[in-house]
Amino acid sequence: LEIAATERAKQKPIRVHCCTSTGCEAANSLTVKKNLQKAVKEGHLEEQVEIIGVGCMGFCGKGPLVQIDPENTLYEEVTPEQAASIIEGINGGTCNVTQGDINHPFFSRQVRIVREHTGKVDPDRIESYIAVGGYQSLYKTLYDMTPQQVVEEITKSGLRGRGGGGYPTGLKWATVAKMPGKQKYVICNGDEGDPGAFMDRSVLESDPHLVLEGMAIAAYAVGADHGYIYVRAEYPLAIKRLEKAIQQAKKYGILGSQIFESHFDFKVDIRIGAGAFVCGEETALIHSIEGKRGTPRTRPPYPAELGLWECPTLINNVETYANIAPIIREGGNWYASIGTETSKGTKIFALTGKIRNNGLIEVPMGITLREIVEEMGGGIVDGEVKAVQTGGPSGGCIPADLLDTPVDYNSLGKLGSMMGSGGMVVMDENTSMVEVAKFYMEFCQEESCGKCVPCRAGTVQMYEILNKLVNRQATKTDLEKLEALCLVVKETSLCGLGQSAPNPILSTLRYFRAEYEALLQENP
Ligand code: SF4
Repeated sequence: LEIAATERAKQKPIRVHCCTSTGCEAANSLTVKKNLQKAVKEGHLEEQVEIIGVGCMGFCGKGPLVQIDPENTLYEEVTPEQAASIIEGINGGTCNVTQGDINHPFFSRQVRIVREHTGKVDPDRIESYIAVGGYQSLYKTLYDMTPQQVVEEITKSGLRGRGGGGYPTGLKWATVAKMPGKQKYVICNGDEGDPGAFMDRSVLESDPHLVLEGMAIAAYAVGADHGYIYVRAEYPLAIKRLEKAIQQAKKYGILGSQIFESHFDFKVDIRIGAGAFVCGEETALIHSIEGKRGTPRTRPPYPAELGLWECPTLINNVETYANIAPIIREGGNWYASIGTETSKGTKIFALTGKIRNNGLIEVPMGITLREIVEEMGGGIVDGEVKAVQTGGPSGGCIPADLLDTPVDYNSLGKLGSMMGSGGMVVMDENTSMVEVAKFYMEFCQEESCGKCVPCRAGTVQMYEILNKLVNRQATKTDLEKLEALCLVVKETSLCGLGQSAPNPILSTLRYFRAEYEALLQENP
């Protein structure tokens, strides 16, 4: 509380937030930030104005983004040359930079729980996180709640795993908590690999302490004292910020021994993945942390019983852990009041494709695809929506006439797609759905670890038939073989990668069969 009070007392009347996450950084936001700082200095405004590097504000397609607080003014696609004009505007002069619409549905339709503070806190400074109430949920669990009460609160919230499977989080925690044995582990799966998905990267880059706090609360609840965050090597900024966050938390006694002077010890290590998509599968990920080749194994036993180094292990993904501190703060019933009967809370989606507004959105479960695509996303740049792909290589394509479907685990599953980790790619009328299926199958055959035959051989054969199709060399028999292969690979593969690899083909065949048939040899 002292740190929070000191931090708030130091705050300048005007804060200029400049996004320093990967998307905006790639568009030169670090130079924008430097020029903003220079302009503040030249205008002798240091007492009134501070420039803060913050995490992702969400509107990634329009970066670099700069937001003025407390005015709540947003500037999009800011160039380094425009920085001085923004400061001139703050100083009572004329600002020649066009403002973005902060009231656009892209922002106003969002319900931000995980992303509550992203774009506001400085991810490089723990004090910034503490000033907005950070680590108070961990303190509350250690001093006001028993581990069992924590598990009950998470169960009450109805939170389901955000990594794709949608397994009830409270049930998973309760299983690990019940397991005997002194040594248990918690693992954060940050091996986000779906094409088009960047939710976890953004959360780690923008609010790393939120994930650490969620992990520490989970460790307390299940009786673990050691955690690992597994992050893919392609996310260097996320790794850098996590390393810094861990060091800072240790310095304040929030990670390590006797956290908050309690009897609870918890340390966290980072493990960097080498880019294999299959390492997002929990047993492959565990093998990889153990220093073995990252291939899946049969389940059961599940990691909750026999996980890392054969100890009971809790694995959740980044977004799941990022929901924990707000749930503990506000209560499980509050969280359960958001969303639908079977899918509670919010979900972050990476909204991309042929759409006007690209970026990250956090929306309540139950919102329709149409609201996301047409209202928030602003529709297709030039033309009509043809389909929306959800769930990455494990998901499927939903046609435009089903856009009124609510976004929740059950509804998407019934359509042959899935929630997945949150990739949402919008396609227009010019998109060939057979090419889309071929793209995802090419990805799966490359990423198949080769351990089991149906996936190793089946994905290659399916890819070859799709290739023949797009080259108009396939026959009706090839199409029949493709459908038969889909079912065999789905039914007999060892892990989720193979079991779900046929989904993009099956869903496009279900809704766009005519496109496949039009490409057959007898229909040149
Ligand atoms: Fe490996 Fe594919 Fe088998 Fe999974 S289904 S174990 S990725 S070969």
